[in-house]
Amino acid sequence: MVAERLLGGMPRWRTGLGFDVHAFAPDRPLVLCGVRIPHELGLAGHSDADAAFHAITDAILGTIAAGDIGSHFPPSDERWRDADSAVFLRHAVELLAGKGGRIENVDLVIVCERPKIGPYREAMARRTAEILGITADRVGIKATTSERLGFTGRGEGIAAQAVVSVAMEG
Ligand code: MG
Repeated sequence: MVAERLLGGMPRWRTGLGFDVHAFAPDRPLVLCGVRIPHELGLAGHSDADAAFHAITDAILGTIAAGDIGSHFPPSDERWRDADSAVFLRHAVELLAGKGGRIENVDLVIVCERPKIGPYREAMARRTAEILGITADRVGIKATTSERLGFTGRGEGIAAQAVVSVAMEG
């Protein structure tokens, strides 16, 4: 068909969405996008509780309908205790690459009252880009408060939401 011929050389686009929440806890590190952020509280979780990397991982898995992070890395598995979430993210990137997918860009929103994310934004984008195999100008990182409303507003935890655009080759 003419339409198929016209579309033949063009990538097919996909989008994935990810969302994650972790509660603040004492005596835990605060790691977002693989960057350690100084703060009086860290995030509770089985792994390093990097809510940002977890949201991006789920967004990537979503582009190929490959389940969610918990189905690939069950929290019941002792191997993932305090694990560097870069491992999860890299796994999702490899699954995507195996299906002929290439990440075009990522956009991330982090929701918390504190700490301020701005000073760490560049380092977070650089680290994320490194794992995704793209340039840092394709990693959008935004932070917002929730105007003191809800669990993030009460300072009980951090939420992260991510969308990923992917070009499927072949
Ligand atoms: Mg998580």
